[in-house]
Amino acid sequence: MKTPLLLLTMTEADRSTSLVSLEKVNKHFGALHVLRDIDLDVTRGEVVVVIGPSGGGKSTLCRVINRLETIDSGSITFDGHSLAVEGRALARLRSEVGMVFQQFNLFAHKTILENVTLGPTKVRKIARAQAEQRGMELLERVGIASQAAKYPAQLSGGQQQRVAIARALAMDPKMILFDEPTSALDPEMVQEVLDVMISLARDGMTMLVVTHEMGFARRAANRVVFMSDGQIIEQAAPDEFFTNPSTDRARDFLSKIL
Ligand code: ADP
Ligand code: MG
Repeated sequence: MKTPLLLLTMTEADRSTSLVSLEKVNKHFGALHVLRDIDLDVTRGEVVVVIGPSGGGKSTLCRVINRLETIDSGSITFDGHSLAVEGRALARLRSEVGMVFQQFNLFAHKTILENVTLGPTKVRKIARAQAEQRGMELLERVGIASQAAKYPAQLSGGQQQRVAIARALAMDPKMILFDEPTSALDPEMVQEVLDVMISLARDGMTMLVVTHEMGFARRAANRVVFMSDGQIIEQAAPDEFFTNPSTDRARDFLSKIL
């Protein structure tokens, strides 16, 4: 029996309101203009797939949403709060946005279960027994409960990435950002990770996913955003985007990856 992960009690109003909203966001690294007037809204329960050439600013976009990077101008609102917060408010906000990276970033000398319970016990101050029970449910959910006592190096890449997803879920995030979660995996392990992501999407998790996996975009995305040179060049529903991209740049990109 799968444990329900998310509250499926969203009202229509919830679904149509933005969870995260970027307005005219600009970011430079020195002379490099990495995000140019980015306007982007992600509504609750929405799955947005971000694609585009390397160096286009996709990772930076994730990092500014999670506030691992500051922005130079514009505004970011998350769940109704301006992201111009600091200190405790910043820590809380950050814990509400899960992040799954290309490199799984698990703690090498902690067990799989410890990796999943660390955030809840240290940051959320949840009792160990309760965090462990929930941690096991989440490991079950990503198909890895039998590995709970092992260490990351004893698991395959696909298994480690599923642990990273369970770890993100353990903080009960309002949204999860995935930055090329399958790019470092051997090909035969890609699908097991995508399957977990597809099931989260079906459960109503709000997700922003940077990926080159167009099969995932077609199956799970509500919207595809094409980013290049720090700009959102176009965005559309997957069917429309893949069959009839409206810009030469998107057409050119698709011809190279499909
Ligand atoms: P993508 O994820 O689409 O490949 P990134 O957001 O990683 O793009 O990078 C966008 C540009 O910003 C690239 O030219 C990259 O080299 C540069 N960049 C990213 N992070 C930094 C940083 N911390 N310092 C300097 N330049 C950076
Ligand atoms: Mg990147």
